[in-house]
Amino acid sequence: MDCLFCKIASDEIPATIVAKNDLAVAFDDINPQAPTHVLIIPTTHHDNVAELSAADPLALQALFSLAAEIAAERGLNGYRTVFNTGAEAGQSVFHAHLHLLGGRALQWPPG
Ligand code: 5GP
Ligand code: ZN
Repeated sequence: MDCLFCKIASDEIPATIVAKNDLAVAFDDINPQAPTHVLIIPTTHHDNVAELSAADPLALQALFSLAAEIAAERGLNGYRTVFNTGAEAGQSVFHAHLHLLGGRALQWPPG
């Protein structure tokens, strides 16, 4: 399968890796929307979070664990974790990924 994030998870395509655990990899977003904008992905391929949640709930949990670790390490006062699911919600890469955003005041609701 030709998947950008599978290639990042397997080191075929470079990325700035921030953290890893057995089930997940975290790396800087190439087009950051905040001082911290990290993408956290499962190492196995699932098109979106609904599929990930059904197939591998432990991997889904691992994404949130890594997000909390990174936020704590960086001393973020607050942060946002987001899954865009489907093109209408802005999903552009169809390998499930958790956005971790922080380091500035964030508006609500998002656009
Ligand atoms: P989505 O729009 O699917 O929720 O998020 C995809 C994210 O992947 C975007 O924020 C985009 O900037 C990021 N992205 C796209 N291509 C690359 C890449 O090659 N490397 C990295 N590090 N991030 C990417
Ligand atoms: Zn993939």
